Amino acid sequence: MTAFITKTADSIKALRLEKGFTQEELAEKIFVSRQAVSRWENSETMPGVDSLKELSKVFGVTINRLLGDPVKLVCQCCGMELDENSVSCEPDGGANPDYCKWCYEGGEFAYKSLPELVEYLVTHVPLGEFTREQAEEFFSARLKELNYWKEAE
Ligand SMILES: [Zn+2]
Repeated sequence: MTAFITKTADSIKALRLEKGFTQEELAEKIFVSRQAVSRWENSETMPGVDSLKELSKVFGVTINRLLGDPVKLVCQCCGMELDENSVSCEPDGGANPDYCKWCYEGGEFAYKSLPELVEYLVTHVPLGEFTREQAEEFFSARLKELNYWKEAE
């Protein structure tokens, strides 16, 4: 969760400057205080789920992009960043760069439903300042943007 905070701070600031908004103007558009925007940009706090949704509307980008992952390869099931150690394999041994090895193994997906995965994440990922409920909402919103769950819908 903490790695998200710095990346999110950078992308909010970059997108705001791209649109030519001051912190004040952005704050008004998404119904928060200027101080809130300033804290996000200084990596002091992370926007809540509602603010992330508003920001994604105002900037016209996905929540993933706000979280700082525009081009990196992420598992299309759980959203974790993929590298050569975490990428999954097909049963014949070839890499499958769409998923991590914990979500997809031996041609089988580990998670059959979104709530199952969200439950796993909130019990295994450090939540920082998030309450369990906020974390559940946060992960659900983020996971729904991934291909595996888009197709499942
Ligand atoms: Zn995964």
